[in-house]
Amino acid sequence: MPKTSKRSGASRPKAHAPRKRFGQNFLTDQGVISAIARAINPHKEDNVVEIGPGQGALTDALFESGCAIKAIEIDRDLQSQLRVMFFNRDLTLFNYDALKFDFNDLSNEENDLRIVGNLPYNISTPLIFKLLTHLPIIRDMHFMLQKEVVDRLAAQPGNKHWGRLSVMTQVDCEVEHLFDVPPEAFYPQPKVQSAIVRLTPKATSHRPECSREQLRRLVQLAFAQRRKTLRNNLRNVIDEAVMQNLGIDPACRAETLTLDQLMDLSLALPEAAI
Ligand code: SAM
Repeated sequence: MPKTSKRSGASRPKAHAPRKRFGQNFLTDQGVISAIARAINPHKEDNVVEIGPGQGALTDALFESGCAIKAIEIDRDLQSQLRVMFFNRDLTLFNYDALKFDFNDLSNEENDLRIVGNLPYNISTPLIFKLLTHLPIIRDMHFMLQKEVVDRLAAQPGNKHWGRLSVMTQVDCEVEHLFDVPPEAFYPQPKVQSAIVRLTPKATSHRPECSREQLRRLVQLAFAQRRKTLRNNLRNVIDEAVMQNLGIDPACRAETLTLDQLMDLSLALPEAAI
């Protein structure tokens, strides 16, 4: 956990009233901003993509490395502020909804994308699911998220947070919960704790014969009602005998299964269920 500090002149927004609908909780704590930049450790040649630069708190810290930044910001009113603030920096701004943005447009042959963002709470999970479909062009991702989402990303089997998000992320990424960030680090202050997570795509694909689409479907079904048994959740798609042949107890709950057991089950899904 980094030391929190308020540098004089820390960027408390004045001209721009934070918009709730865009999840605008701006980082103001210079100690936390520096700790995030250190964790990302950008280099001049890196292909850095920031989602939701807001008023540029993190952007500014990342620019200290001399890297170029491509940033996707949905709030048009923040664009002119960012352009003025970074007039002498290599900033390419896209006024776009990150959920609809085509990240393939940002890739280049030499450098995979380094994606960063203090993500608004309402888009974080769908955005991560979207980015998981672009892993071949991504080197790493650093996000500030609600701590509860980071707990789900990093959860292990048997934990109450182990579920769709953990499985679909961990199958292809290393997940590191780096540190927590308290509400006081933002303006306005969110009601919940936040945390920084690093997601790094795995160098080699784990069991490539198991299609991710098939796994996604299995996990959706198996965790549909968390308190129910596999027997119940998978009733119409996988026979109990098939589960038993795989060494899986039909009376257990999906949250007790390992990633490989879920992958085994996904391979048993009939095509019609996918
Ligand atoms: N990076 C800034 C910081 O740390 O102070 C701002 C973070 S604030 C939590 C989230 C930012 O994402 C806001 O600037 C908001 O306007 C922007 N945003 C919200 N929804 C977005 C979307 N769908 N696509 C792109 N940007 C979005």
